[in-house]
Amino acid sequence: MGNERKLTSSKVIALIAHDHKKSELVEWAKRNKALLAPHILYATGTTGKLIEEALGQPVIKMLSGPLGGDQEIGAFIATGKIDVMVFFSDPMEMQPHDSDVRALMRLGTAWNIPMAMNEASADFIMTSPFMAGDYTIVIPDYSKYLKRKIEKD
Ligand code: PGA
Repeated sequence: MGNERKLTSSKVIALIAHDHKKSELVEWAKRNKALLAPHILYATGTTGKLIEEALGQPVIKMLSGPLGGDQEIGAFIATGKIDVMVFFSDPMEMQPHDSDVRALMRLGTAWNIPMAMNEASADFIMTSPFMAGDYTIVIPDYSKYLKRKIEKD
């Protein structure tokens, strides 16, 4: 049996956008201003600054993504501090921090948080009844992995 994490109607949302997707995320956030208002917003540095300016809502800002911000968000996901991730990634351009991008998506999967990688998914997540209400996240059971036998050399 996995563990559970109970989410309330006020969630912690991480917002990230690659450079060519930043204006799309800002427009999306403006369109969803009222729906975002009850939640706590985290973001990578540059994205956070733009969202804060556009919404007038405080955003807790990490370092810029390629400088470690993606990993900071990842650490918060792994420690259960981020409930939802909205990440507008650029499918048309190679990112210098591709390994961090993949690690972030991998952690979101590992800890079973809702993730939107594009605008349509973000719309579905924001309008879900679970977003405005309670939801229990089931965390996969990693106890077997943690108890695995490590052979001594
Ligand atoms: P940034 O980082 O918001 O600081 O530009 C985004 C990213 O992770 O690429």
